[in-house]
Amino acid sequence: MSETAGSRAASLAHLRSDGLTRGDPIPLPLTMAAIFHTPGDSTGFNQYGRFSNPTWDALEEVLSHLEGAPTVGFPSGMAAISAVFFALLKAGDRVLLPADGYHATRALAERFLKPFGVAYDERPTATFLDGGFDGYSLVFVETPSNPRLDICDIAAVAAATRKAGARFVVDNTTMTPFGQRPLDLGADIVVAADTKAPNGHSDVLFGHVASRDEAVVAAVREWRQAAGAIPGPFEAWLLHRGLETLEVRFDRMCSSAETIARRLQAHKAITGLRYPGLEGDPSHNLARAQMERFGFLVSFELATEAKAEAFIDGCALMHSTTSFGGVHTSAERRSKRGDAVPPGFVRLSVGCEPVEELWKAIETSLEAAER
Ligand SMILES: *Cc1c(COP(=O)(O)O)cnc(C)c1O
Repeated sequence: MSETAGSRAASLAHLRSDGLTRGDPIPLPLTMAAIFHTPGDSTGFNQYGRFSNPTWDALEEVLSHLEGAPTVGFPSGMAAISAVFFALLKAGDRVLLPADGYHATRALAERFLKPFGVAYDERPTATFLDGGFDGYSLVFVETPSNPRLDICDIAAVAAATRKAGARFVVDNTTMTPFGQRPLDLGADIVVAADTKAPNGHSDVLFGHVASRDEAVVAAVREWRQAAGAIPGPFEAWLLHRGLETLEVRFDRMCSSAETIARRLQAHKAITGLRYPGLEGDPSHNLARAQMERFGFLVSFELATEAKAEAFIDGCALMHSTTSFGGVHTSAERRSKRGDAVPPGFVRLSVGCEPVEELWKAIETSLEAAER
């Protein structure tokens, strides 16, 4: 890895400097435009809002800088995943998905890939290498998986999929480019929901596809233009602003999550706690090898659905909400979204609150829920 997280973060805020002339605004201007001034020969500049937009370009420059690869923006994480599927797959192809990853990816395959003649199989993240990858044209993993935080070996899957002739996609949403670098570990494509930590303020949906394979980037770009699944310039502008503080937020969130995971694990009301950063966690050795940080998600179980609900609702510094990665700590009882987990299973997304205050609120609510 030539660039470190520190050097990437430091230069991120100054990427625009080279293009500035005297009197230009330092922050990114927002260009709300469906049409552009297009006299004469129509190549080499902005033509129409479905084809290109200067605010997208600036955002994609930042995302590309973070990923270390050409990157294409989409209006949501699912739009980015859809673009990979529909731009790269054809009838007769077979896809391998994580059995325990984000549910909407499997739903998309079931409802929309299958009728187009693209079959899919599912495999648990923790044993993803078992069975090999022969016969697949696209292999998709999410590591750590959401919500159980199992991990698979990205470099090993990359080597095996390359041998099998499959394209290897990693959904890196839970880690962000500051926490894990799948392309450097050999993945062909990264997809991510910037809706989560990258934007961080829970006010925008966004997604991206990154790849060092020019044909992949060209295909998803063409898909975006043809399908019309384009990001709004204002959403791109908001994400651009969010990304300027991603490194600071992510650092705080991961540090706090390590502290809180340790204390939760020692708490008598908690069982089945998973956090890749804890020495005893089944994911720990692999996490140390392939992740730059251990993330901000912690999962665990309380004894009953009622206790889990009381804990989440009763915590003064926690929002009860789906999604994760925001500046505010949030949690959700995942069985209510249909994940195959026990009723008292909680996914906690540690936010940016000062950690001692956050822990005090968590401890107080845990005790109240036990009463
Ligand atoms: C949220 C999420 C998505 C989908 O992102 P949207 O912006 O909601 O479409 C995809 N993958 C993972 C792992 C997610 O957490």
